[in-house]
Amino acid sequence: MSATTLLGRKKVEDLGFVCAHEHLRMNFECSFHKSKLCSEDTNMKLKNMTNHQAAMVRQFPYHFKDNLDLTDYEAVLYDLKDYKQLGGGTICEVSTVGLSRDPKFCAKLSEESGVNVIMGTGYYVQAAQTDATKASSVEVMNQFIQNELKDGFTECPGELYPGLVGEMGCSWPITEWERRHLQAAGMLHEQPGFETAPISIHPGRNEKAPEEIVRILTEAGGKEEKIVMGHLDRTIHEVEKLAEFGDQFKNVIFEFDLFGIENSHYQMAPVFMPNDGERLRRIKGLIDLGCSDRIVLGQDIHTSHRLLKNGGHGYGHLLRVVQDQALNVALISPEIWEKMTKINPQRILTIDIQ
Ligand SMILES: [Zn+2]
Repeated sequence: MSATTLLGRKKVEDLGFVCAHEHLRMNFECSFHKSKLCSEDTNMKLKNMTNHQAAMVRQFPYHFKDNLDLTDYEAVLYDLKDYKQLGGGTICEVSTVGLSRDPKFCAKLSEESGVNVIMGTGYYVQAAQTDATKASSVEVMNQFIQNELKDGFTECPGELYPGLVGEMGCSWPITEWERRHLQAAGMLHEQPGFETAPISIHPGRNEKAPEEIVRILTEAGGKEEKIVMGHLDRTIHEVEKLAEFGDQFKNVIFEFDLFGIENSHYQMAPVFMPNDGERLRRIKGLIDLGCSDRIVLGQDIHTSHRLLKNGGHGYGHLLRVVQDQALNVALISPEIWEKMTKINPQRILTIDIQ
């Protein structure tokens, strides 16, 4: 039972603590949102900011273009070393096509920090794509994903390999092209040699999106137990509705991956973003309903202000802060915490491409 990291195959038992959804290098300009509540210059650089301006980045992270450019190697390395020191083992790096992914950059970070990095292939949302990519058929996209899984990333074939598919980006309402890229991914599970590919999903911002997406994936051949539904913390806001989703698709994995975001103001959708306490309350609700074998966690760091060097919580946040709250406030047992952060990821990330 092994996973494919950027530095080679690794026994899943050796992955240690896993953050299931992060970014080490990406550009998120496709999600630039000028806020009507913020009068600051959107071109301001983080490094030139006063404390007042930095406070505005905390409230309106998508208003500042520089904050959407997560490319500072030294800042990310520093942060990964902190994660490692706290007991971190592995990070799933899910920057797909459209997010300026860079496998070599991430492999170097892995080498220098000692943190395993499992990186994804596939496509982000339509708004992030070139016209050529948007014109691609299901077959072309399926072939692209197959080629990368088998032969390595297009940027460095034969050298660095993806260990999962995703995050596969979907909007609400889903676009025709996004429907096609989901079919291209779902098909893998019925294609000889690709049955074990884990698929990680970025759903549209609507509580009906996860259900629609799983339908598209499974109708194309996707296997529920290899599908991770990301960003549930900002998508389905009640335990009962999460449970309904889980009942409908009995083996799909729930991912709560926005830990560390504590502001209720969310620029991307007219909903309250939950804080960590609320995330843990929902997770505990699902655990009490018997779902502990199908939950994984992450922080989805995708903006610079969340790195330690910029005054953020860093990749180590789950280990530094949330673990203690989970055990001592949410009263999640140590065994179940271990399941969500080690055992479940081991099963999901097991991959054997032939
Ligand atoms: Zn993400």
